[in-house]
Amino acid sequence: MANKTLPFSQAQLKEIIQQYPTPFHIYDEEAIRNNARRLLAAFSWAPRFKEYFAVKATPNPTLLKILREEGIGADCSSLPELLLAEMAGITGEDIMFSSNNTPAEEFQAAKKLGAIINLDDITHIDYLEKHAGVPEIISFRYNPGPLMKNGNTIIGYPEEAKYGLTKDQILQAYAIMKAKGVKRFGVHTMVISNELNPDNFIATAHMMFDLIAEIHQKAGVAIEFVNFGGGIGIPYKPEQEPVDLEYVGQGIKKAYEEKIVANGLQPLRIAMECGRMITGPYGYLVSTVLHKKDIYKKYVGLDACMANLMRPALYGSYHHITVVGKENLPLDHVYDVTGSLCENNDKFAIDRQLPEMAIGDLVVIHDAGAHGHAMGFNYNGKLRSAELLLKPNGKVELIRRAENIADYFATLDLPAEIGQAAATKTGK
Ligand SMILES: *Cc1c(COP(=O)(O)O)cnc(C)c1O
Repeated sequence: MANKTLPFSQAQLKEIIQQYPTPFHIYDEEAIRNNARRLLAAFSWAPRFKEYFAVKATPNPTLLKILREEGIGADCSSLPELLLAEMAGITGEDIMFSSNNTPAEEFQAAKKLGAIINLDDITHIDYLEKHAGVPEIISFRYNPGPLMKNGNTIIGYPEEAKYGLTKDQILQAYAIMKAKGVKRFGVHTMVISNELNPDNFIATAHMMFDLIAEIHQKAGVAIEFVNFGGGIGIPYKPEQEPVDLEYVGQGIKKAYEEKIVANGLQPLRIAMECGRMITGPYGYLVSTVLHKKDIYKKYVGLDACMANLMRPALYGSYHHITVVGKENLPLDHVYDVTGSLCENNDKFAIDRQLPEMAIGDLVVIHDAGAHGHAMGFNYNGKLRSAELLLKPNGKVELIRRAENIADYFATLDLPAEIGQAAATKTGK
């Protein structure tokens, strides 16, 4: 059972709130570093193992820089994500550009940065060559389709997923690139998401090692690295267990020995591009109870809403909730915990057993460190909240300020008289 504790005390949190009003996300630097080290240690057997952090999970340059210091690169899929990686000092082949449906400018930017470009389709070969030229190293994303039997709830069955090349296409694609003079090759896949069963990662490795042998045989191409994608899940529910990384690392090592070393296909580098498991459990959404209402059900209304954390509304996901200072009280009340959007699915929890709650209570929503702030939006005029970093010395640093009303109006080209009125109201 994963114990859902907090990295700060109630007194510490009250002090933080004096300076930074709720809602905000706060990330635990020390825990992020320790976790990154655990992942790298599990693959320390693999020559030059690389984790490329999926920037979309938590696109904050301060966090990217912390990860870079631990030896982690960046997995980007858009121009702003490439720029974030660059800002954090992550450059060249420490960036993997795994995009899909990609515009020309983004391929150009990725090539200019010297990032490893991972193509999502066979037609992108010509598109890339036309718009950015042939790169020195190329990777392709494999979609096994019906060749892989078990699907996964977020990504779904591979044959229903929009990503990647089929088996026949990928074999052709390497032959085409080889004919164009490319000498360095990688292969990529991402077939599972938020997966907690460690055996599924080992199964993916087996599938990819077999594919690498087939590419070698049929396309005459030696693969330099394999990227298994992300998808390592996190225990959102207290009764779930985290993935045993050591077990995954050892299982993949065994497969590597059987299928890569035994067939003379080494050196093959192993890479992953996990996002969720890197920052997810170490980010917390902190909010305050604004209102309570008692109609056909009992509701607790927070000052946060699904603009701060969309996963419960989007996927029906469970996020654990701690009412600060009430950790030891009986969970003898049942509430829907809501945000303020005019959308009935704007709920962080439905029928959740919690202690009796009061207006002004501080509420912490766990596992909000990935796909939390990042998925924020301005619907209903909601402003994105701040991001804070809890340093190992207990100090707190503001790593992204909250949006203000002027930010909300910043993209509008207002006629003079409205602009004047808005400027007066927003103080800009
Ligand atoms: C989202 C994504 C990842 C990261 O997935 P996690 O579930 O956060 O580990 C990695 N690679 C690609 C291509 C993705 O789209």
